Parts: sequence; structure tokens; C-alpha cells
Amino acid sequence: ADTANQIAAGEVVERPASVVKELVENSLDAAARHITIEVKGGGLTLIRVRDDGWGINREDAALAFARHATSKIRRAADLWGITTLGFRGEALPSIAAVARVEMDTRPPGETAGTRVRIAGGGEPEVTAIGCPPGTTVTVTDLFYNTPARRQYLKKPANEARAIVAAVEKLALAHPEVAFNLHLEGRRLLSTPGNSDLQAVVAAIYGLETGRELLPLAGEGEGWTLKGFISPPWLHRAGRSQQVLTVNGRYIFNRLLTRAVEECYQAVIPSGRHPLFILQLAIDPRLVDVNVHPAKLEVRFQQEYELARQVAALVNRALHT
Ligand code: ADP
Ligand code: MG
Repeated sequence: ADTANQIAAGEVVERPASVVKELVENSLDAAARHITIEVKGGGLTLIRVRDDGWGINREDAALAFARHATSKIRRAADLWGITTLGFRGEALPSIAAVARVEMDTRPPGETAGTRVRIAGGGEPEVTAIGCPPGTTVTVTDLFYNTPARRQYLKKPANEARAIVAAVEKLALAHPEVAFNLHLEGRRLLSTPGNSDLQAVVAAIYGLETGRELLPLAGEGEGWTLKGFISPPWLHRAGRSQQVLTVNGRYIFNRLLTRAVEECYQAVIPSGRHPLFILQLAIDPRLVDVNVHPAKLEVRFQQEYELARQVAALVNRALHT
């Protein structure tokens, strides 16, 4: 069972940034308004994610580390309209299989909190503690028992960079949540959590206010889109500042990304790339999020038609 757990863990927990992403997504699913992330040693030494979400009660706390013990799919039918970020019940057991994990949690309505400690996929140890409402998960010594995986990772500085990139995207996907990221004791990122997407974009990409970005908005059958794209005069070098979110999940979709790029290149044929953040809210039945184990790639029904309409919105934004 240990080996099976470690193999399954490899799919979910590729590197420290995947741990951060899974933990933050759990905080978002728990309706947190404040999420604080602390990272040491590129995430290999320590990852701590603290939230003020709805917490977990004593009876369910240990269960959260059992494989496929998700609380998020109540009926099989739910699978067709997934609206939470997690749904497989694999993240916590996978992380606990390859690290030491401590989770302190308390639902706001309870007086006592619960601590669960688990390491290397062993038995969870549950104790009563006092803690603030919400959940704090601390992951230390990531991959301590899988030396091959640890060997394969890049330098801590590279892992730290991947963590920052992941948190930036999560923060952009959720401007209603205040994010704080501390890396090696330094505050690297802080977003206001007041739903002002422009303010989040500005905080992350070093723009003065974000007001220099061009807004775009529109809708089609079963979807609405809003976001921002950089005007041609705002020089951007690379493709890394392009974020597409679908129902609060940041995703990669080649067709949509290319449609936006092509629109932009047609207006300014300089080989520059636009900065963009596009938030698509779409009827979950029109999306398949189950394409990739890391959940990053999605497919849409009538993808070409959607790309065409998104391109038209981008075109309009660039010409106003
Ligand atoms: P999934 O997110 O796919 O359900 P996870 O392994 O990530 O699976 O989490 C297992 C369960 O633990 C979740 O379904 C949820 O009930 C609970 N849980 C995990 N993290 C939190 C959190 N930060 N706040 C509240 N509940 C949590
Ligand atoms: Mg999860």
C-alpha cells in the first residue's frame, strides 16, 4: 500500500509548487477570505498554508487523509458539473505519503480545534488543540522518503520560482481573496482581496494601478467573459503573463491562448506578446476538466466557436 500510495502521490505531487496549489485550492474550496502561504527551502523544507475557511470537524479530520475521501462529490451526478477546485480526494493523502504533514483545523462554530499529524503515509494521529478558526496545513521535509524524486528536482530557487508563479495565478483567479506569500521570511506578494482584478494584476505584474490595461467583457451562450489585455504600447516580453481562468480555476487551453495572441499580433505585428488575464464563467456542463491529472488543461464544447467569439472581444478591446 505504501508503494501504491507513493506512485499515486507522484501524479498529484510532482514538485513543491503542486503541493502549494493543492493546499490553496482546498482553502478556496473552504470559502477562505484570507490565505497565507509560507515557504522555506524552495518548499522542500517547509510549506505552510493558513486559511480562515470553514475548517474540518473532529470526526472528519483524519478522514481527510484517506484516499478518495472527498467531501465535495455527494452524488455521482455532481461529476458532470464540478464547481469546486478539488474533487478527487487525492491531494492530502498524496502529500502525506511523501512528507510530514500537520493540520490544525477548527470550524468557526466549534470551541475546540483538532490537530492531525501524519508522515510517510502512516496512520494519522489526532489530538485536541486550541487554534484559530480555519485550517493550517504544514508540510515539512517534502520527498524525504522518496530520494529519487527529491534528486530529480531542480534547485530550491527554481522550485521557489514555480511556487510564486502558481500563487500569482491563484491570486489572479480569485481577486475576492486576500493572498499573502512569504518566501524565506520575506513578503513577496500581497493582494487586497477586495475583488478588484485590476489591483491584483497591478500588484503582481508591477504596474502602477492596472488602469493602463484595456478591459474586455462579453458573453455567449452559457458563458460570460471578463478580463484585461495590455495595450500595444505597454511592452511585454514573454508569454508568462497570460492567465486564463475558467470558473475560478486557472487553466491552459492552447486554442483560446492562440486566438488571443493572433488577434494581438494582427494589431501590433512586432512579435511582442500581450499580457492578459481572462476570466471565463461558463456552464460547467460545457467544460471537461478531467483531461489531465494536474487539472490544468480543459476542453470546451464547441471550442472553435468559443475561440472565435473571444477573439472578437479582444479585437474590440484593442480598437477602443
Ligand atoms: P479534494 O479537495 O479533492 O476533496 P483533498 O485530499 O484535497 O481532496 O482534501 C480532502 C478533504 O479534506 C476535502 O474534501 C475537504 O473536505 C477537506 N479539506 C482539505 N483541506 C481543507 C481546508 N483547508 N479547509 C476545509 N476542509 C479541507
Ligand atoms: Mg483538494
